[in-house]
Amino acid sequence: MTTLDKTISVLTDLIGYPSVSSESNLDIINYLSDKIKSLGGKIDIIKTADNKQANIFATIGPEIDGGIVLSGHTDVVPAKELNWNSDPFKLTRKDDLLYGRGSCDMKGFIASTIVAAEILKNKNLNYPVHFSFTYDEEIGCFGARHLIKELKKYKYKPSIVIIGEPTNMEIIEAHKGDCEYTTCFHGIEGHASNPEKGLSAIEYGSLFTNKLFELGNELKKRAPSDSPFNPPWTTVQVGKIEGGVAHNVIAGQCSIDWEMRPINEEDKKFVKINLFKYCQNKLLPEMQSKFAEAKIATEIIGEIPGLIPQKDNQARVIMQDLLQLNSTGVISFGTEAGIFQEMNMDVVVCGPGSIDQAHKANEFVSISELDKCLQNLLKLLDQWTKKSI
Ligand SMILES: [Zn+2]
Repeated sequence: MTTLDKTISVLTDLIGYPSVSSESNLDIINYLSDKIKSLGGKIDIIKTADNKQANIFATIGPEIDGGIVLSGHTDVVPAKELNWNSDPFKLTRKDDLLYGRGSCDMKGFIASTIVAAEILKNKNLNYPVHFSFTYDEEIGCFGARHLIKELKKYKYKPSIVIIGEPTNMEIIEAHKGDCEYTTCFHGIEGHASNPEKGLSAIEYGSLFTNKLFELGNELKKRAPSDSPFNPPWTTVQVGKIEGGVAHNVIAGQCSIDWEMRPINEEDKKFVKINLFKYCQNKLLPEMQSKFAEAKIATEIIGEIPGLIPQKDNQARVIMQDLLQLNSTGVISFGTEAGIFQEMNMDVVVCGPGSIDQAHKANEFVSISELDKCLQNLLKLLDQWTKKSI
């Protein structure tokens, strides 16, 4: 069996686990952990408090600083689209394409790491190779956050991370952050004929929304001239507003679902501080001067940090050398990369398949892309086994 056939076989197994985000992923975690154990790896299974989900952080080689992490998420988005031409949880091969939920996002990469790692068997490594397989990336990178918290307690720290999200094997060293919030305004219901006897949550919610758009215009002016992103500035967006019950009732409640895609931490702080001040110094005092019990509350739904390009990035250097590429790219979707970068590791995103095929019916990865990823990982790990102290 060729290494490529083995990879397709592991991918077939992985797709067979319907590891949809927020559902238990323990079956796929057990499968992966058995695979790595058979290569002589040490496995840490990091479970959630309710024992429903888990991350794997595994190590082959010495438990010292300076390792390389191959990282992927085990969860997939649901496969409820009606136009699937095959069972989404059964790998279906048609010509050069492998169909199935998670084929490109991102079980193809995980399968390649498992097969490429066989090269490490019985080798005396000077530096470790780690595997990080997480849960619930798709709904807010919860697994990676949990994993990093645990990783901080380890006596050693990896230095390089390759995240195999689908980039068509392009090397990515930047993406914006993705932060989602819900802000709720609590007013007082009343008859519309006498607005003074109530407090319209919608009125204050609208002022808040306007302030957010005002900040959005200022963010455009803050974009650095060398910003690699498109659009080059931090964007803000209101996705949903809900509130009130009828034409003739003063709205007691209004909730606003909004988000921002920050290009850097400064912009994120700029938006949060300005909105906080506007609520604390203007909206809330006004609301409470009419009704003391009026409230504004913001819930953080998720804050995925961006991947900030770094001058010195060993992950980029290694991958550029392996793939014979001078260029690097930028992606418009969030990944776990920024979470690893917060621990001062060198990170790139590079994996098989295209994000255009992810999160939709008939998701696929091409066999040629999968092979490119596999061959690249084989070269990477072969070089790694020769890395001297
Ligand atoms: Zn993904």
